Amino acid sequence: MSLKKYEEKRNFRKTSEPKGKTQKVKADLIFVVQKHDATNLHYDFRLELDGILKSWAVPKGPSLNPNEKRLAVMVEDHPFDYKDFEGVIPKGNYGAGEVVVWDNGTYHSIETDDRAKSIPLLKNGLEKGDLKITLHGKKLKGSFALVNMKKPKQNAWLLIKKKDEYATDKDILLNDKSVLSGKGIDEIESPVKKKS
Ligand code: MN
Repeated sequence: MSLKKYEEKRNFRKTSEPKGKTQKVKADLIFVVQKHDATNLHYDFRLELDGILKSWAVPKGPSLNPNEKRLAVMVEDHPFDYKDFEGVIPKGNYGAGEVVVWDNGTYHSIETDDRAKSIPLLKNGLEKGDLKITLHGKKLKGSFALVNMKKPKQNAWLLIKKKDEYATDKDILLNDKSVLSGKGIDEIESPVKKKS
């Protein structure tokens, strides 16, 4: 799968984001949600598939409430290594702003927790625009659907919590710290030392 779009948008001498490469991993499939304080604050929802991260930008963030359907705009595939990216994308670069790893964990098809059996089901779901998954994150747990709206734009999807024991009307976004560093998005600093 191509990371061309990802690479075209970035100058890797100017941003510390990972360079594009695919990765073969045999362990459980992973997902990550990055809170990204760019021009507009949003949450990037990413699912590992074929060594890359299928990616959606969720303006209002994910919800555990089955009644709250969240718009998820499909964006370019990201490299697998992006899963651990937390830091600052410098001003003037694509997506400039702070990023924290808001949640991460493993996932699989709603139908099976077997990795090998999951993969064709997930690919089929992506193709059909109806992806049903189960997340094992620190914050996001249980089953979700990602449904392509087809209209008005091909890249508009809805992220919907399914009814299960993890469904709740509590606002999961209030739990706002990074699952990697424990930092809030306001505590993230650029790895490049600023001249004073
Ligand atoms: Mn983003």
